[in-house]
Amino acid sequence: MSRSEELFARARRWIPGGVNSPVRAFRAVGGTPPFVARGEGARLFDVDGRSYIDYVGSYGPLILGHAHPRVVEAVCQAARLGATFGAPTEGEVALARVLVEAVPSLEEVRLVSSGTEATMSAIRLSRAATGRSGVVKFRGGYHGHVDALLVESGSGASTLGVPSSPGVPAAVVEQTHLLPYNDLAAAQALFDRSGAEIACVIVEPVAGNMGVVPPEPGFLEGLRRLTREHGAVLIFDEVITGFRVAYGGAQARLGVTPDLTCLGKVIGGGMPIGAYGGLRELMEQVAPAGPVYQAGTLAGNPVAVAAGLRTLEILREEDPYPALEEVSARLADGLAEAARDAGICVQVQRVGSLLGLFFTEAPVRDAAGVAAADGAAFRRFFHAMLDAGVYLAPSPWEAWFVSTAHRAAEIDATVEAARRAFRIAAERA
Ligand SMILES: *Cc1c(COP(=O)(O)O)cnc(C)c1O
Repeated sequence: MSRSEELFARARRWIPGGVNSPVRAFRAVGGTPPFVARGEGARLFDVDGRSYIDYVGSYGPLILGHAHPRVVEAVCQAARLGATFGAPTEGEVALARVLVEAVPSLEEVRLVSSGTEATMSAIRLSRAATGRSGVVKFRGGYHGHVDALLVESGSGASTLGVPSSPGVPAAVVEQTHLLPYNDLAAAQALFDRSGAEIACVIVEPVAGNMGVVPPEPGFLEGLRRLTREHGAVLIFDEVITGFRVAYGGAQARLGVTPDLTCLGKVIGGGMPIGAYGGLRELMEQVAPAGPVYQAGTLAGNPVAVAAGLRTLEILREEDPYPALEEVSARLADGLAEAARDAGICVQVQRVGSLLGLFFTEAPVRDAAGVAAADGAAFRRFFHAMLDAGVYLAPSPWEAWFVSTAHRAAEIDATVEAARRAFRIAAERA
């Protein structure tokens, strides 16, 4: 028995499913998840002494790779001064300023402790501001485990085939309208029918929880126009894309500005954090400036803020985005060529350092396209890559995350491993 197997057996005695977030249990691919001992740059090391090139990056935060020395330094410095105070600190002001200056839609921003809290709060604020209750989301969009948004989410929820979770009251979900991603005509029809009831549209401007699905030209622009015409709030969930696809997020890269933006992951540099912000007239309705209640014991936590500030400082100073683009393109091209050589049909979809790989013949534009891809081929590919020392997310619904620590050497080793893994994937089970 490996040490990971031993730990996983013990974990299942005391933790539901042995994990603290469902995707980590490997249910979609089978087998035992390696228990991680440490990370360094682009690499993970497990408790059995194996090392992996990591494309999970903790599902998005680690744009600088694991244990970046300057981020570690910031965390240690902050922790020595006290982990939490329940009182305002200078770091929060600095982080708010960096976020407002970087992200086009932000005039004011509130820090919370997770992406889930950010989307939950943005929805509450939208409902309060409009006096309406309808929420529009897209199939395959994941916005955390907020009751109203836990309907046909991508990511863990889709992997487990739980379209909506038990425990979510029907009355809550009745207010949630589901639309196919990239289908502006469906959004137009919904607004024509029920525009006066819709408080907000929440959308990942680049979908990153159903692999990677870019918005088609005109889709986000159309949502911007529709929400404006009908007095609804447009929320971009940039928890993955913020400071990932560009310094100012997808809205900076794509040139469409929402009313509210949700952030998380990269802005905490690997520590727990989230944020939501936007137009001043909306944000001034949040307590204590206004009546919309939202609070958090650890909100604006000094250690998380220090890790986030240092991460964003490095991103601003070093501007690694062109290099990330180049190294990610090398990976995408290498994977496509390796699949072609193995005689297997795949789609490699990429926006910046976010990459999706689908075992299917047509480009994927929505959740139906992801569902139609070959799950068995993915499972064979996944395990062949893991055996070769490449750690991918254990689900075709998750993105690959490239970091600044991934250099040509790691990319080329990954593509080399993929040559064999694609041949294995191509074999009949
Ligand atoms: C990860 C994620 C969330 C939830 O963030 P947590 O910190 O896990 O609560 C919300 N929206 C998107 C787009 C995400 O990828």
